[in-house]
Amino acid sequence: MIPPSDSRRVRPKRALKIVATALVAALALISLRVGGKPEAELSADLPGIGPRTVVTALGREPDRGLRRMTLELLQGERVTPLADREFEPRPVWSFWGESTAEAQIAVPVGSTVTEGLVAGEATLRLTLWRAGTWLRTPDPVTHELLLPVRLTPPRLSVLSSQHYPRQGGSETVVYRFGEHVVRHGVEVGERFFPGYPLPGGGGSFTLFAVPYDLASDATIRLVAVDDLGNRAERAFVDLLRPREPRHDMINVGDRFIERVALQIESQTPELTATGSLVERYLAINSGLRASNRKQIADLARDSAQEFLWQGAFTPMPNGQVMARFADRRTYFYEGREVDRQDHLGFDLASVKRAKVPAANSGIVVMTRFLGIYGNVVVIDHGYGLMSLYGHLSSFEVATGDRVARGQTLGRTGQTGLAGGDHLHFAVFLHGVATDPVEWLDQDWIDNRVLAKLGIATGSAS
Ligand SMILES: [Zn+2]
Repeated sequence: MIPPSDSRRVRPKRALKIVATALVAALALISLRVGGKPEAELSADLPGIGPRTVVTALGREPDRGLRRMTLELLQGERVTPLADREFEPRPVWSFWGESTAEAQIAVPVGSTVTEGLVAGEATLRLTLWRAGTWLRTPDPVTHELLLPVRLTPPRLSVLSSQHYPRQGGSETVVYRFGEHVVRHGVEVGERFFPGYPLPGGGGSFTLFAVPYDLASDATIRLVAVDDLGNRAERAFVDLLRPREPRHDMINVGDRFIERVALQIESQTPELTATGSLVERYLAINSGLRASNRKQIADLARDSAQEFLWQGAFTPMPNGQVMARFADRRTYFYEGREVDRQDHLGFDLASVKRAKVPAANSGIVVMTRFLGIYGNVVVIDHGYGLMSLYGHLSSFEVATGDRVARGQTLGRTGQTGLAGGDHLHFAVFLHGVATDPVEWLDQDWIDNRVLAKLGIATGSAS
């Protein structure tokens, strides 16, 4: 038994022990409490390094936070520093407060941004330092990513000859390319026409259109791009034949505007009828026209990868041509010019509510009311080639139907922006309107498309 007087003497001793223990613990903490082992991740947006690949490095240390992060590119003896960042980790005695638990850097590497890069392989090395103490400096964590380096463009050779497209017309090019190519086709100014493998093998081909309004300094190039972004280009057009613009004047009156505006507005929810009659007309003639053209262009993305057509196109055999492709129209209202638009199809007139036959075989991809075109049928003929039939009064086919040449699609009418009963016939290649005249011509198709492709198809039946 301990006498009560003793316990009073023990208390300061115990307190001293507690303080000493705490001091030792604190000393141990500030000597030994380094940050946790950082986690490192490295990734690249391409499967290797070519002209420009973006490498993303990620470091993570949620305990005391990162201290430093470096990224280097190693090729043989050569070390190229790409990034070096330092951070302020949390102090050793602190369990909360500011720190960098996670950091990410994205750096472009490649022949266009990295000096001295050579073909072969390259190692990307991410190094992460964690917080240390006065006694301990833990080794940094490194993480590496090995990537192939390819700096030469893919092989690309043009197999076809005699490329002399007309402005506003279409053309075919046949070619062959080397390994790793992920994108190929023809660039016409800002537009891209994708290529496809030849159905019989032996190469690839692209059917493309030269926009009727292509800028005079725009280039036409066959391109092949590999998975690392290396790009081969060929200028293959022998001659670009210019197109003489044709001008046309159109007077629009109140009665015409009232009829078409009411009809189009009532079937176009995104169009709000505001302003005067002529303002409503202009909203349709320019704004809605542009958005309708985009809706048609969007259809091309899902175009079939097969030739669904055969021989020359024959839209409305008895139709009389009322307006031609790329007519430049100036619109007048009460004697003053109010708008300018280009007519990107053929207008064919016959009797009222005449039967409209499919100009060639294919798959119906649109049957609906589409703004300026009114009731419209669009047929996909494969490889981005489509034909359009506008202003119909009725439909006799449905979206998804497979149609044969000559099959009745519907009847002519004056729905949409039409002054009278007629058919608006248009041909598109990947959403770019092209002159239908070429596609109506069996000789042109034989020489400029089929002969180049080496495909023997039957002529118009
Ligand atoms: Zn038309």
